Amino acid sequence: MSRIALITGASSGIGKATAELFAGAGIDLILCGRRQERLNEVAAELSDKVKVTTLVFDVRDKGAVKAMIGSLADDWKNIDILINNAGNAHGMGSLDEGDTDDWDAMIDGNVKGLLYVSKAIIPLMLENGSGHIVNISSIAGKQTYANGAVYCASKAAVEVLSEGMRLELTQHGIKVTNVAPGAVETEFSLVRFKGDEARAEKVYQGFDPLQAADIADAILYAVNAPSRVTIADITILAGAQSAATVIHRK
Ligand code: NDP
Repeated sequence: MSRIALITGASSGIGKATAELFAGAGIDLILCGRRQERLNEVAAELSDKVKVTTLVFDVRDKGAVKAMIGSLADDWKNIDILINNAGNAHGMGSLDEGDTDDWDAMIDGNVKGLLYVSKAIIPLMLENGSGHIVNISSIAGKQTYANGAVYCASKAAVEVLSEGMRLELTQHGIKVTNVAPGAVETEFSLVRFKGDEARAEKVYQGFDPLQAADIADAILYAVNAPSRVTIADITILAGAQSAATVIHRK
């Protein structure tokens, strides 16, 4: 029987690449995000390979999260894999000058959003006595950098939540994998710098950055591991990267 994966943030970057790879592996897909049009495009691209449905909601809106996941038809509720990927950095600023709206977006989206989605899906997995949750953290959750402390804090929270989930859920047959990517070339920097393309491009200049598909590969590896194996934590840096902010550029 084919598996079902719910992927948050499937309209772009790592989430979209994971959807593409999962479709190739025969995994049916529930694609989530705020941009319906983008989700429709991904769904159209993949629906000749697997069954695909879309859910449009903002992970920060706990009522919408509950209602949208609750609205799934019974067949779609047998979710085997949850990819908690939706998230972004917003701005880069010091703790005295940072924009509090940016802080809200990061804490509410990256931390509380992940919690709301998990709370809606964990009971479904408990009912089935099986499941796999993959949380997309970041190297920024393991190493703090100046002017990014709030983003780093939000991802450090994801690391802790992965551990907490694993402690609570392993006994129920649910695996939890934490994935911490380094510098991946997606829309991430464009969002962080509020549409400033030149500034976003600079982030990836002078080295060969990770591609979203590289992270998707690791995610597929984790969810395909035999039942005797839990891939607990994966950190993936770019080839030229040795720490969160140390990148050897040409
Ligand atoms: P993208 O900006 O390309 O993708 C972000 C995705 O998250 C989009 O699909 C977006 O969908 C969704 N999203 C963002 N905020 C919300 C929200 N409030 N509600 C619902 N969906 C939301 O970036 P990436 O693919 O790079 O990011 C994916 C994850 O990887 C994030 O958690 C990020 O922190 C993490 N990460 C990224 C790294 C990088 O260098 N790129 C490094 C380490 C971690 P939509 O706008 O349609 O809602």
